[in-house]
Amino acid sequence: METVGSFSRKGLVAENTLFFQIEIPQDIKDRFIPGQYVHMEWVTPVAPEEKGDGRDFSIASPPEEWPRLSFATRLTGSAFKKHLEDFPDGTPIRVSGPYGEFTLPSGLEERKWNEPVVLIAGGIGITPFRSILLHALGRFPSVPFFLFTTNRTVKSIPFLDELRNLARNQKNLFLEQIVSKTDIPLPPDLESGILTPDRMFEAIGERAKNGDYYIAGTPSLVSSFSTALEGSHIRHERIHADPFFGYP
Ligand SMILES: Cc1cc2nc3c(=O)[nH]c(=O)nc-3n(C[C@H](O)[C@H](O)[C@H](O)COP(=O)(O)OP(=O)(O)OC[C@H]3O[C@@H](n4cnc5c(N)ncnc54)[C@H](O)[C@@H]3O)c2cc1C
Repeated sequence: METVGSFSRKGLVAENTLFFQIEIPQDIKDRFIPGQYVHMEWVTPVAPEEKGDGRDFSIASPPEEWPRLSFATRLTGSAFKKHLEDFPDGTPIRVSGPYGEFTLPSGLEERKWNEPVVLIAGGIGITPFRSILLHALGRFPSVPFFLFTTNRTVKSIPFLDELRNLARNQKNLFLEQIVSKTDIPLPPDLESGILTPDRMFEAIGERAKNGDYYIAGTPSLVSSFSTALEGSHIRHERIHADPFFGYP
């Protein structure tokens, strides 16, 4: 699918982290699987970049929200991101996709309580998981979902309150949010330190070895978690990686 959508800015969902939406005319409800991404580029770039005007972004909303697709991104000051900050609502933007195989395994209807789905989000890597969770939590109530997020500071955790509410209301979601630096007094439901496989296994318990593991975030975070999980005897085919190339 390639289409021209209408951009609108929706505000910040963490420090320096913009939430925006694109309304697209083409119905992709039957083709878009949560976890996928699109490629987007401005129809009329104001300051063309040497690096190209396009970027890939994971869709952060579920297919049910079509014609609106939601996205979140860290504002880095690049020309593309400046346009996200400045362009008026209604600015046309070309969207192609959705692409990618970072999607849930099939057969979730028959999946047992001891086969968890484990989602590991490094910072802005939460975006595909927001789509996955909003779509799947209610649909597959017997599947246990474990979401681990890791961020530098409390203020930089995207969708903090939304995720808290989701975990409060959905019995099959276990949420652990970890920060490596304490910028403000740590709220009781957050933890400090470094996320490691052992820390996750402790939360997941016995069934950890039967889990499917999904990792999204910077390429370095994704690669170090994949290696660490393999080193902890999680089978290669159970580890699914979504490196956000373009971040260091
Ligand atoms: C599958 C996928 C999903 C992504 N989802 C998100 C998301 O949900 N939110 C988000 O903020 N970012 C996401 N990204 C990263 C995003 O595409 C941008 O690269 C990132 O936001 C940095 O852009 P920038 O304009 O801030 O940085 P810039 O400084 O302009 O770009 C950083 C550098 O990365 C290079 N680069 C940019 N995109 C790519 C690429 N796709 N592959 C290889 N090199 C590249 C550029 O050439 C440049 O040298 C995703 C990337 C991929 C591949």
